[in-house]
Amino acid sequence: MHEIVINLHMHTRYSDGSGTHKDIAQAALDTGLDAVIVTDHNVLVQGVEGYYRVPPRRVLLLVGQEVHDQDRDPQKNHLLIFNANRDLSTLADDPQALINGVADANGLCFIAHPNDPAAPAFHETDISWESWNVERYTGIELWNGLSELKTVIPTKLHAAFYAFFPQFIGQQPIPDTLRRWDELLSTGKRIVAIGGSDAHAMHMSMAFIHRVIFPYHFHFKTVNTHTFIPEPLTGEVSTDKKMIYEALANGHCFVSYDLPASTRGFTFRAKGLEKSAIMGDEIPVKGGVTLQAHLPSPADIRLFKDGKLIGIWQKGQNCTYITTEPGVYRVEAWKNYLGRKRGWIFSNPIYVR
Ligand SMILES: [Zn+2]
Ligand SMILES: [Zn+2]
Repeated sequence: MHEIVINLHMHTRYSDGSGTHKDIAQAALDTGLDAVIVTDHNVLVQGVEGYYRVPPRRVLLLVGQEVHDQDRDPQKNHLLIFNANRDLSTLADDPQALINGVADANGLCFIAHPNDPAAPAFHETDISWESWNVERYTGIELWNGLSELKTVIPTKLHAAFYAFFPQFIGQQPIPDTLRRWDELLSTGKRIVAIGGSDAHAMHMSMAFIHRVIFPYHFHFKTVNTHTFIPEPLTGEVSTDKKMIYEALANGHCFVSYDLPASTRGFTFRAKGLEKSAIMGDEIPVKGGVTLQAHLPSPADIRLFKDGKLIGIWQKGQNCTYITTEPGVYRVEAWKNYLGRKRGWIFSNPIYVR
């Protein structure tokens, strides 16, 4: 398996972002990403997908969309849609119809910022997901860079501080979202977690300050989705796009916060009697299963079974756990950075059945 780093969920001038697709590709090249997935609100932008190259580097820019019902007040229920190959925003008023439309088009969809609190100092309302009775979606956006920002800016002064020192923002996915994910997994569903930046490269003007806050460059070094594909990227758009979307659909990925240290090299695998598995896979419990996680540098490893913490390995790089019990197993890694312990890696589960 080959690991590639993807930043996904971002906006350009086609919706409420300030940059162009070219700006995004350049920022992705500068920060060493392998691919980006741009998702403007309620529009599927045509003609920009492809490889952008500044030799010796290249980055694959893919285009999806983020759809919500613009007539709804407040404008909740945002859905990230990839690979549907047509604009589905006309279905926005009914979340299940929208999700069915994606599934029928062989696309993938993820509930965006499941918990997205209000930020009254900026007249931003709560735009969490509400329609939890839906089915057939691929997964959820476990960690959204922008929702997390909204949790730390009770006043404009806080926002000004974080505009200059954004490295202090990132701590972890919103706890209610993590809880919700574990709950959904406990019902037997397979729910893929991805991490999104929700980058807009916003302009901020306040008294003496005018600057682009949280530029694409910054976001691309923070919340990413590391994805495992069977062959290295080829440089050919349709082949690589297919590999990436298949891997995301299968949950062969983990959510990372790459600012404290690169998470490239993280693995979480299982070995059974006859089969081995990676994140997102199922493996039979019969005969026992050995779970193994490996980190690229030391951190605290936490192993969860069915949403419950069952083991901690402090300042380690490896953990091994043998089980004979079926369950949904996932790993988190937490690392000290700028004076506090911060979420660093959130794996997709291995489903031991
Ligand atoms: Zn949104
Ligand atoms: Zn967004």
